Formats: sequence, C-alpha cells, structure tokens
Amino acid sequence: MRRILVCLLLLVGLPGLVRGVEHITLDRDEGPRVASGRVLVTAQDGGVLLQSADGVLWRIEPDEIVKCSADDAPFEPLEPDELGRQLLEELPDGFNIHTTRHYVILHDTSRAYAQWCGALLERLFMGFYNYWSRKGMKLDEPEFPLVAVVFASREAYAKYSEAEFGTLADAIIGYYSLRSNRVTMYDLTGVESLRNAGNRRGSAAQINRMLARPEAAMAVATIIHEATHQIAFNSGLQTRYADIPLWVSEGIAVFFETPDLQSARGWRTIGAISPNRLGQFRRYLPKRGSTSIESLISDDKRIRDTRTALDAYAEAWALSYYLLNRHPRKYLAYLRMLSEKKPLLWDDPQTRLAEFKAAFGDDLREFDADFLRYVEKMR
Ligand SMILES: [Zn+2]
Repeated sequence: MRRILVCLLLLVGLPGLVRGVEHITLDRDEGPRVASGRVLVTAQDGGVLLQSADGVLWRIEPDEIVKCSADDAPFEPLEPDELGRQLLEELPDGFNIHTTRHYVILHDTSRAYAQWCGALLERLFMGFYNYWSRKGMKLDEPEFPLVAVVFASREAYAKYSEAEFGTLADAIIGYYSLRSNRVTMYDLTGVESLRNAGNRRGSAAQINRMLARPEAAMAVATIIHEATHQIAFNSGLQTRYADIPLWVSEGIAVFFETPDLQSARGWRTIGAISPNRLGQFRRYLPKRGSTSIESLISDDKRIRDTRTALDAYAEAWALSYYLLNRHPRKYLAYLRMLSEKKPLLWDDPQTRLAEFKAAFGDDLREFDADFLRYVEKMR
C-alpha cells in the first residue's frame, strides 16, 4: 500500500509542475522491467496508463509497480530511424528498415515488396487526410512514426503475433494493435491462393500485377482496413483505449477498405459502395429486427461475437456510409464528440444511445426508416 501511495504522489505531482519522463519499475510474470514515458492516465486505484517514446501503451496495475521516478527530460517521441533501430532489436534476425514519409516499415521480405507496402500505405494516408479535410474535419499529423511490420513467411508472422494477438492472428492476414500502435502482416504475394495461380513474385511491376488480380482484392482490403484503424488512431480522429463504439471505428475502416479492381494497384478509391458488404447487409434484412440499430450502437456485442459479426460489420458499414453521405455535418459533429473521449473510461449502453440520439435525433424509428430507404437505392 505504501508503495502505491509513493507512486501516486510522484505521478500526480504538484499542481502546475511540469514533469519530465516517468520511469516505472514493474514486477511482471516475465520478470522485472522499467517502463519509461509519459503518464496518460492515473486511475483512482493507483493503476497507470503510460506511453513510451515508441508510442506503445502500457497498462500498469497498481500491484505491479515497484518503484517510480521521474527526470527533467521532456517526453519526446522517437525519430523514425531511432524507432526502426529499436524495433530491429525486438524482431527475429533478418529484418530491414524501409522508411517513407509517415511510415517505418520493418520487413524481412524483398525490398520491392516493402516498397510496394510503403507506397500503398502512403496512398491511403494521403487519401484519408484528403477525404476528411474535404468533409471539413481537421486532423492532426501523427505524433509517432507509423510502424508496419511485414513478415515474409506466414508461419513467422503467426509465431510473432501470437504473443500480442493470440492464436486469432493465425486466421487473419494482418492486424492493428491498439497497444503497440503497429500494423503487423505478411507478404501477400505468398498467400496460397495467389501462389497457386502460378505467379512469380519479384519486381515492383510483378507485385502490382499480382495484387491487382481479383483473388488478391480481399487480402489487400484487409491491409487497408487495418492501416485505416492505425491512421484513425494517430490523427486525432480516435483515441487509443478510449471508448469509441466499435460500429464507428469498424464502419470507417470498412468504408476505406473497399477495393477497386479497375486500379492497377488494387486499391484507389475511398468510399466506393462495397458490393460484398451491401450484399451481406441485404441478406441480413429479412431477419433484421426493428431494434437492430439500437443494438448496434448501444454496445459492441454484435461486432465482437463471431456468430453475428459479419452482419454487424455490414450494418456498421452501411450506417457509416449513410451518415457520411446523407448527414455529414451531424456525423462529423458526432465524431468530434467521440474524439474527445479519454482513455480507459467506458460508457454504458444508455450513454451511447443518448449520445447517438443527441447527434441524429430522438426518433430512432424514423431514422431507421430513412436509413433503409437509402440503402434500398444503393447500387
Ligand atoms: Zn477493423
């Protein structure tokens, strides 16, 4: 107990006193270690949310804290090359660094593949900022370099990801981690169905051709989807570990992911109608109850439950599409309200519902009817 009190005093400090970097000695299962960075949240029980200079978030329980200290050095995010070098230490042997304007890409793939990823991510980044800027939403430049880790082999990816994401990572081709702030994936030209098509990977042109094939569309869309989450959480649109309703963050990620098979690079447009998601939503309509919207916005259950996830993602996409196109001003105001949410504070279903109604009107029945009429006309 005394230990906790000591740390609390240190962390809370004196009013108006600017503190530098905090160093917290932790005792965890894997042994003692020091986490250094800035404290984002100090919970009432003495738990701490700390962010280190590489952008990683540390949730520290009160009983893990052994010692706290602070120095005068101001907190500063790592520069891309420092961050790259630090990550090389954490990764298996054989990784290289490819940096672009906003990204640090760690890869053990060919250089051409890392460049393909860098170009795709930068295109998405620019598209994302342009899209919101045209809508009238001002976004911040990311405070930390955006990290993508790209494995050449699926097996190595799965092994590395298990610690962070659990065995679920094995079933997907890439993911974004809120904790580490990184997108992790593997070389898509190694995806079985593509390799079986008899392609050879190598030059940039070959990679482009291969990933522009219809079989690659879903794989590329997944990477775009995860990278969209990363940009959303680094541009001030959303805050990591804040209670952003999942239908909102997933709706936006799906909105951006829609592949464009006409493009030689597999992805170009933003906000095109997704035939897959629209089809999924239409198949859901016959069994869709009158309180479907309510259940989607009140909590995250339908999106998290694998049995209902596909329908819920489709509905989240359709709802986001509808709001962005039919009620952009109200939707942006709603997103701004959500962007103010602080980490580790969770809303109850009533609050979520009340915030939605405050943004879009009290009469959900009328809202839903207009939403369905809109979807009916979508082509
Ligand atoms: Zn997602």
